[in-house]
Amino acid sequence: MHKITEISLTTASLLLLPVQPVWALTADKITGLSTNVVFIITIIVSIIFGLILARVAAENRQAKGRMLVTKTKNRGELNPNEILQELKGLSGSAKNQKKAAVALSSLLDEKVKEKVTSVRQELTDKYGKLVEEKSKVAAEAQKKFKKTLNEKKQTEAIVRSVAAGVVVVNNKGEVLLMNPAAEKLLNTKKEEKIGHSLTEDAREEQLISLAKTTSLDGETDIEIDSNEDTKKILRSSSAVIEDENGQTVGMVTVLNDITKQKELDNMKSQFLSNVTHELRNPIGAIKQSIAVILEGTAGELTEPQHKFLSNAKRNLDRLSALVDDILDLSKLEAKKMDITLKMTAISKIVDEVCETLDTWTKNKEIRIVKDVEKDLQEINVDPDRIIQVLMNIISNAIKFTPQDGTITIGAKLSEEKGKMAVSISDTGIGIAQDDLPKIFGKFQQAKNRSAGDKSGTGLGLTIAQELVELHGGKISVDSEEGKGTTFTFTLSMNLTEESSAK
Ligand code: ADP
Repeated sequence: MHKITEISLTTASLLLLPVQPVWALTADKITGLSTNVVFIITIIVSIIFGLILARVAAENRQAKGRMLVTKTKNRGELNPNEILQELKGLSGSAKNQKKAAVALSSLLDEKVKEKVTSVRQELTDKYGKLVEEKSKVAAEAQKKFKKTLNEKKQTEAIVRSVAAGVVVVNNKGEVLLMNPAAEKLLNTKKEEKIGHSLTEDAREEQLISLAKTTSLDGETDIEIDSNEDTKKILRSSSAVIEDENGQTVGMVTVLNDITKQKELDNMKSQFLSNVTHELRNPIGAIKQSIAVILEGTAGELTEPQHKFLSNAKRNLDRLSALVDDILDLSKLEAKKMDITLKMTAISKIVDEVCETLDTWTKNKEIRIVKDVEKDLQEINVDPDRIIQVLMNIISNAIKFTPQDGTITIGAKLSEEKGKMAVSISDTGIGIAQDDLPKIFGKFQQAKNRSAGDKSGTGLGLTIAQELVELHGGKISVDSEEGKGTTFTFTLSMNLTEESSAK
């Protein structure tokens, strides 16, 4: 028996002690037994009673222990204070305490394991997902990188194999890309140019000039000394590269060798120039002969003869004008037009042109208004060439302005520094918007011609443009169909023969 049993027995004996003398006397009296026997019986009874009490107490504690385990199991959670409290209550039985402790520790183990497993699973799932997502992103990035790399390779291969020279520069003008064709055309090595300006270190004799004329579509002709007998002429077309915010980040330039084309053009111009030059003399001779016949010096003419000869003279005049225009244009294009600069008042030139066209304007009943700014300084120009420009523009204005119309000739200082602006406005039939960009082209005539005068070669404005540019200026047109047209050209106020020759 353990402590609990001993305690129970002692407790039972103690409880029975007070009644022992009474019991001994009574038993003595009743049965006549000796006091010693009675005392022994009393002790035995006490022990039996104590054992019964101990048994009841043990049963009670076992039931309590079972209840604690069940309670804990049912709740599925372990509250340390509660467990301690319950264990204290079990302090009577070491065996039961041990049992409860073992049950609790195994339960604890189980719970901890469960928790660890669930947390591990949770973390595994979470990290698994993360890893999966990351791998997906990485795979996507890798795919994109490969695609970009392929595209880059493709673009590079295309740029490399393009017959035209391609040069890409950044916004500082430093070369970023140059294909083999560009290296060949510019007589340079890509390695020397990448990261540097294209014109940096360019030997002066190598890059002779950037042509001062830029055509309507933004093309520029560059003349390059190829270190051979002939010069190379490159046509460069450039386009600005902008980022998504519209900021200029660079420029791409395509270079084409147009030396052969230029040579052919020159040969053509030369041929035209020679032919027209050769035509001039016989035309002049025929003109003079017809004039003499028409005057009647060579004998009286019948009316039909006069009529036919007059018709021949008119056509001869047109032929002569055409020959003159072709000759002028070929000289201008070959940069062989001679100009003799002279300080001249623009008002004088305007007066002279108006005087020449006076009969024509009067016949057509067209009013000429001169609007030349007072005190406008004299300007260094070739007066004959500026007269030619004005004659070409004003005769068009007369041709395309109906009776009673007005032509206004104005001259003033231009808003552009160092330039004078001359304008010719008419109240004529106007030019369709889609025809406007074409009319300065060679042999170009607008649709409106059917409504106006059909005479003309389509070279007048081309020549006017070339002559204006030779004087350091620019020509432009503004027109509205049915309302009229305004031509404006500028002239440099400080032109020298050298600057005009460039
Ligand atoms: P053309 O010898 O035919 O006049 P131009 O080069 O001088 O050749 O002019 C080209 C065309 O431009 C003309 O044929 C005409 O259609 C148009 N044009 C020029 N000036 C005017 C104007 N003032 N009003 C209307 N159309 C004009």
